[in-house]
Amino acid sequence: MRLALAGFAHETVTFLPTETTLEEFNLTAHRGRDIIDTFRGSGSPAGGFIAACEHEGVELTGLLYAECAPSGPVSEAAYRYYLDAIRGGLEDPADRPDGLLLHLHGAMATALRQDPETAFLQALRDTVGPDFPIALALDLHGNLSPALLPLADVICGYHHSPHIDMDRTGARAARLLIAKLRGEANPVMAMRKPGIVLPSIFTATSLPPLAEVMATARDWETRTGVLDVSVFTGFAYADVNCIGASVVAVADGNELLANRVADDLARRIADRRHALYRKDLLLTVPKAVDAAVAHAADSDRPVVILEHADRMNDSTHVLRECARRGLKKVAVPYLWDPAAVRSAVDAGVGTHVATAVGGRSSAQAGDPVLLQGPVRFAGPKRYIGTGPMRRGVPVDLGDAAVIDSNGITVILTSNQLSAIDTDPFIQFGLDPNDFDIIVLRSKTHFRAVYEALADRIIIAETPDWGPADLATLPYRNVPPGVFPITA
Ligand SMILES: [Zn+2]
Repeated sequence: MRLALAGFAHETVTFLPTETTLEEFNLTAHRGRDIIDTFRGSGSPAGGFIAACEHEGVELTGLLYAECAPSGPVSEAAYRYYLDAIRGGLEDPADRPDGLLLHLHGAMATALRQDPETAFLQALRDTVGPDFPIALALDLHGNLSPALLPLADVICGYHHSPHIDMDRTGARAARLLIAKLRGEANPVMAMRKPGIVLPSIFTATSLPPLAEVMATARDWETRTGVLDVSVFTGFAYADVNCIGASVVAVADGNELLANRVADDLARRIADRRHALYRKDLLLTVPKAVDAAVAHAADSDRPVVILEHADRMNDSTHVLRECARRGLKKVAVPYLWDPAAVRSAVDAGVGTHVATAVGGRSSAQAGDPVLLQGPVRFAGPKRYIGTGPMRRGVPVDLGDAAVIDSNGITVILTSNQLSAIDTDPFIQFGLDPNDFDIIVLRSKTHFRAVYEALADRIIIAETPDWGPADLATLPYRNVPPGVFPITA
């Protein structure tokens, strides 16, 4: 048996003004045998595909695999290129593999397409026909369309946010497809949309009441005949007609059972729709900084302030407040600003610079903040991730810079990436425990490291493109019945 492996993943914030280009995807792309050599043993979905196939003695052919950080609409050129390249690997019937393992996000959008992933699968189906086995590994934040279901044989989503089980999800999908090909299982699927979408900040799967829904999904998986269950929370920052949570149940030849599981979980989510909005966790920026200062004074561990509404890793609302108050021992890891990095690189390590940083992606990100102080690091930074989510995955920040400005240490990047583990510190010779306050922009992924490392996590609501209050966003394409936007 021989399976093909491919990936084309992006979580698209449709409200952002700048397109995500083919060049940005190509920066992350791996091709052919290089996919297997790069991702073997990693925590990525590809790592799980590879592990399951090697364990089962299944041969693998790498096609093309790329995954960009969340950002604005994917360009049509990028979409066409990746579709053509991946489809091209399946076109020749004489050389066609026995099946495809595909990683998509589930919440991609292009400037012209609200649901490009269903179109992507349909285009693959048009090439390979209805009987060619395809397994999908998707992100928990996918906005799945019911039209996707009949185009795949197996759909598996991450069980956790933070996504500490991306490799296990790839392995689940691969094992189910291999079992189907061997005639050992007959996966049939059901999907339900419970009529809700959750802001990313409320999708931490360890927090109730979402944790209770996830526990019920795991219970269902222990029942005879249930092969796999995925709960997708949806992605709120996409103005698309397929927006919203979904449940996918996979049963062994028993469509009634799959329907029963999906119905049960969809009802549990719908019943909890108000409780799932944990507004009690949110503070204004001044109150968040007040709380952080108070708790940091009593603790020998850092306090995290989460600027969760930032979708481009460049918002400045919390940084400005910290600078205005003259706070010391503050770290702002992975603030995206290619121009500021360039000026630091031009100035050189040890030089004092005065440079405005952040607030580049849109007006909602806040104005740039002036940093004045020595450049501690400037130059290219590439490394292999060591944290639980990026374990074994190549990370390329482009050029990066570290600037110390009156007690605030800002780690600037040219490629935008969220700080979710300790790599933003240790890769630059810094220690997160040396800081009182750490300003992060991750929604849930940071929790895999910072729930233990930090004294506490304080969530600040800022006026950026990823707010908890969805009433502030200009949705136009959301259908009726999606709480809290249209229901
Ligand atoms: Zn996600």
